[in-house]
Amino acid sequence: MLQKMIDGHTHLENGDLTKEYVHQFIDAAIQKGIDHLHILDHTHRFYEFRELYDEVCNFDYRQKQWVDKKQKNSIYEYYDLIEEIKKEKLPIKVSFGLEVCFSPYHISFLKNKLNEFPYDFLVGAIHSIDGAIYDLHDLSKEIIWSKVPVDTIYKRYYQLLIEAIDSKLFTQIAHPDVIKMYEIYPSYDLTSTYEKIGQHAFQSHVALEDNTGASYRYHHPEIGLNPKFREILINQNVKIIPCSDAHYPEDIGKNFERII
Ligand SMILES: [Zn+2]
Ligand SMILES: [Zn+2]
Repeated sequence: MLQKMIDGHTHLENGDLTKEYVHQFIDAAIQKGIDHLHILDHTHRFYEFRELYDEVCNFDYRQKQWVDKKQKNSIYEYYDLIEEIKKEKLPIKVSFGLEVCFSPYHISFLKNKLNEFPYDFLVGAIHSIDGAIYDLHDLSKEIIWSKVPVDTIYKRYYQLLIEAIDSKLFTQIAHPDVIKMYEIYPSYDLTSTYEKIGQHAFQSHVALEDNTGASYRYHHPEIGLNPKFREILINQNVKIIPCSDAHYPEDIGKNFERII
């Protein structure tokens, strides 16, 4: 069984950047028996990360509309919030980071930007494949899943994931096998891919998430990682972090009891 006292990935996405909202997360974590909470939000929330989304915005105007809608704050508001909270004496350990949409075209931008603040942790995530977002339901089905061969999507997704691991920008990699979310699978066996990811993560000292988000948001039958993937990572001594990917306080620790 995994150690389940940490929730390694919870989002402020649906609330304001206020101390009160952070405290709702802390209270919910205590209720769930979590004693270490990782709080973050997506880079797409913050104006200063806009250029990371150039490829996504240029790929399809509806994706640009989506990015426009997501941009709500300056990163400096987030820095201020973190500094305020860190002055308090908190009942559990709370760490602050970012979920960064990794793009191989913006590595030097990210290096500079992420060095600007002493984050406790940084999560790298693949949310788009060369400009195409793969998880926006009907839109993604139209622009990628119905156009690009599934094997190609999987191969490119995992190639980007390895680039994110090797970039040394991150301490943690988000939902490593979430590309399975729609239960559309490649024709080839993924075992060697899982092994390769584990090797890179181990060498780079990067933790991989056992993220339950797809199980309750996309109703994927697997709770967190594919069981074979998890087993390989355990055997390779890769650090695994249980994560709910909560977008609301009530989802903290969600489905952790079902991770096996
Ligand atoms: Zn994510
Ligand atoms: Zn997330």
